[in-house]
Amino acid sequence: MNSLLVTGGRVIDPSNRFDGPADVLILDGKIKAVGANIAADSPRDIPKFSASGKIVCPGLIDLHAHLREPGQSAKETIATGSAAAARGGFASVVCMPNTSPAIDNAGTVALIRERAARESKINVFVAGAISRNIAGEELAPIGSLKSAGVVAITDDGHCVQNNELMRRALEYARMFDLPVMDHCQDYSLVTDGVVHEGYWSTVLGLRGWPAAAEDMIVARNILLAELTGARVHCQHISSAASVQLLRDAKKRGVPISGEACPHHFTLTDAVLGGSDRFWETDGKDLMASRGGGRPRWPSYDTNFKMNPPLRTAEDREALIEGLADGTIEIIASDHAPHCDYEKEVEFDYAPFGIVGFETELALSLMQLYHSKRLTLPELISKFTTGPARLLRLRDKGHLSAGADGDLTIIDVDREWVFDVGASASKSRNSPFGGWHLKGKALATIVNGAIAWQERD
Ligand SMILES: [Zn+2]
Repeated sequence: MNSLLVTGGRVIDPSNRFDGPADVLILDGKIKAVGANIAADSPRDIPKFSASGKIVCPGLIDLHAHLREPGQSAKETIATGSAAAARGGFASVVCMPNTSPAIDNAGTVALIRERAARESKINVFVAGAISRNIAGEELAPIGSLKSAGVVAITDDGHCVQNNELMRRALEYARMFDLPVMDHCQDYSLVTDGVVHEGYWSTVLGLRGWPAAAEDMIVARNILLAELTGARVHCQHISSAASVQLLRDAKKRGVPISGEACPHHFTLTDAVLGGSDRFWETDGKDLMASRGGGRPRWPSYDTNFKMNPPLRTAEDREALIEGLADGTIEIIASDHAPHCDYEKEVEFDYAPFGIVGFETELALSLMQLYHSKRLTLPELISKFTTGPARLLRLRDKGHLSAGADGDLTIIDVDREWVFDVGASASKSRNSPFGGWHLKGKALATIVNGAIAWQERD
């Protein structure tokens, strides 16, 4: 097993309310001690990692990612997806079950876990499906999914439309103490919408996806969480009204939570009109617009097509507000790789989604920390305490003695340009290629071993 002494960093461990200079000692893959003078008590021949001048925090967790195995390995594999995650600073990811076939049975869960154990240097956790084949018609075998090791259930990519089926899913999930994660989208309201319904959908002649179609399912989930007592997690929240619904429900003590993605709290639907329009309007105050970094893109760029869609500047502000006041406790990427040939088509025909692992931390630092909306411990908690608590990963997300020896080393002030061509992912569908970013993971440590480290 791996041992490592990380010296000289500023250790931020939000779960233990620790923030200060300290060394971290990992022995046999587990956290042994965090403190000022532990080097003296460490084994003499232990490997050392200098984190002087850097942030040292619990290994970051991304609970929403598409690794595309089984069945879609032209887009991504467990090996390439987990390598991209490690580069982004993530020690743990949760893969979504909308693969082909879907992860709706114990055998497929076992297959992914075996492959991940062989091919990934980071922890890959599996989310199982709510319904068989993610068809929304009959429940997946939730008990046997739990026995096979899933950490949550979700039909992500789809949304269970039948409220009675969702209620029964919640009742089973509660028996097995699994959170139910939901992609909130009312199909009857969205129909074939491809962008946020508003000014830009009208100007560009693209079919609109109204925010109310998200809000309605968030409200449904709150009511069913209240009815059943099950823990419901609303994925990739994108609208102001959804944030307010979550805020009110949490005040009443409803077991509900939400996550936000960096693209939703960085961009708005003005990007669809092309880069000039965005930098002149909703983008003009972004940190990325300063220091010479104003990448260009055309209107109708399919790398800005995601589900839920990018919304307005008011929605973006509401997400940041929700992250700042604790309504939204989790940040996730919704890393969704697609092949070039799939995205290089007319806007209506392109698939939804973007890759996100390698830009997630920088965009979060820029929009939330460098902008002075969140403190560093508050921001780090969204990647550690928040997801670990929801998924009941008791030995992750904190640095208490005995916890798993997962760490992320971060330089919050490092300025760099994202080169999407050099990504570790198999896919290139990022809207952030060429962006000037600030803040970067320098190393990702898993069970005391260095899973990835920047080499100049
Ligand atoms: Zn989704």
